[in-house]
Amino acid sequence: MRDELTGTRDLTFSRWHRRRFGDDATAIDVDLVGYCDPCGAPLYAIESTRREDKSTYVLTQLARRLDCPALLVRYTAHDGELVELRAHYAQPVDGKRRFVGHEPELVELLLHLRLIHRCREES
Ligand SMILES: [Zn+2]
Repeated sequence: MRDELTGTRDLTFSRWHRRRFGDDATAIDVDLVGYCDPCGAPLYAIESTRREDKSTYVLTQLARRLDCPALLVRYTAHDGELVELRAHYAQPVDGKRRFVGHEPELVELLLHLRLIHRCREES
């Protein structure tokens, strides 16, 4: 299993960008983009948060351009470990986000997205 390189989230550059360019230069930090290792194609984009309310408009727009699903994962954690998660598709339909499920359903979906990927590096 590959681990995060530093184990911490360094916001130095993000803060610099906000201070340097202000509110006119809008930007988001993308939490996670799953991709195919051989060809680099994006498979899914995930916004993860502990907050109940989080906008996913920009992530949804990016995922549409990446041609992959956008997901919102709300989670609780204890001592750096995930306790519970609830996953939704980020794109609201009729004002509501479609529920994916909890951890088992999210794992199943992410594996499925990898399985159905048609890799251009494999023949
Ligand atoms: Zn591929």
